[in-house]
Amino acid sequence: MIPLEDARSFVLSGVEVGEATTVPVDDCLHLVTAADIAATGPIPPFDNTAMDGFAVRSADVADAPVTLRMVGTIAAGAKPDIEVGPGEAVRIMTGAPMPPGADSVVMVELTSMSEDEGTVEVAQSVPVGNHIRPAGDDVTPGQTVFVAGTELSPAHLGVCTSIGVYDVPVIRRPRVGVISTGDELVDAPVPLEVGQIRDSNRHTLLSLVRRMGVEGVDLGLVPDDEEQIRAAMVGAAESCDAVITSGGVSMGDFDYVKKVLSEIGDMRWMQVAIKPAKPLAFGTVGGTPIFGLPGNPVSSMVSFELFARPGIRKMMGHPDPVPTPVRGVAGADMLRGSDGKTHFARVHAKPNADGVFEASFAGGQGSHQLSAMAASNALAMLPDGTGARVGDPVDLLLL
Ligand code: AMP
Ligand code: MG
Repeated sequence: MIPLEDARSFVLSGVEVGEATTVPVDDCLHLVTAADIAATGPIPPFDNTAMDGFAVRSADVADAPVTLRMVGTIAAGAKPDIEVGPGEAVRIMTGAPMPPGADSVVMVELTSMSEDEGTVEVAQSVPVGNHIRPAGDDVTPGQTVFVAGTELSPAHLGVCTSIGVYDVPVIRRPRVGVISTGDELVDAPVPLEVGQIRDSNRHTLLSLVRRMGVEGVDLGLVPDDEEQIRAAMVGAAESCDAVITSGGVSMGDFDYVKKVLSEIGDMRWMQVAIKPAKPLAFGTVGGTPIFGLPGNPVSSMVSFELFARPGIRKMMGHPDPVPTPVRGVAGADMLRGSDGKTHFARVHAKPNADGVFEASFAGGQGSHQLSAMAASNALAMLPDGTGARVGDPVDLLLL
């Protein structure tokens, strides 16, 4: 068995960062910036009011209550072509530019207008700059708003558009194909015959890659037939940037995935010192990375988290592709036996009264017990030994 870190380093050394390109901002969610992004002008672009109210000269309202003469209204989007002179006020709406002469805003709640709208009474004094959002208060001209290697979240996309960057330099979105293998698999709402089970891995793996922002390509279900596996693998490697398979990588007699990939690819077959997900195949076919994950449903998902996710994150341009565990405590005993492996227990973790993640088994820990995976929100790392007792610290890989 090889240590987890060695297997993961091997995977990471076998994938390359994708090409840099330019993508329309609305297609950039989850992509990673390929260059620093800088603002050319200030945001906000001009001094504006944060409140509906009246633009005034602060000195005029120092002895409030006072009555000021109304000289106009400025809506959001309007040009501030009215000057506010001494003893005057301009009605102003949130987001509207500050008119020249005014240095403060009184919110509408502190005012009352005369019936003919000729004057406004201001009830309280306000300091200079009150409720004004100065130009450049959010972003200054030339400021790097985010550096290369930033994953674009909805807020990042908002910043891009606010500074006028509609085409964003990013690492290309990878296409990742997902294949299931196995004669026992069925993928339809039909009655199962004895010996058959339903294909769940393709559905979990496709949704895992899609949630990362990858283009997930459903490459279907392939039976345990050498020729069909060969054709599927060659086609997958040609049409995708990476391929994830599940099943057929362990020691079984009909594990043709292993035979075929050994022939057409440059693969390494590993036994990793982890439970679940001990068998792992990784390598390339025609230069395309292939992640050969184990077939058991929990194993395939754990293997995805430990190997495929970091590999794909590197391809997407993440500077730190390996997710960092968080420190929590065992909320109940999580015992195990010594077997030379690190165990990744499916746990439910929730913050306790001190705000510390407290984790306990989410259900049965068999590698076929997918319902516990669904009930979990983290994997608890239990190093080789006897496990964790209630209150012991545990490292959690949040899912
Ligand atoms: P294998 O690695 O092909 O020997 O498969 C190991 C176990 O995982 C067997 O019990 C398979 O039936 C099961 N398995 C393989 N592929 C899938 C899949 N796509 N969905 C659900 N279970 C699977
Ligand atoms: Mg199989």
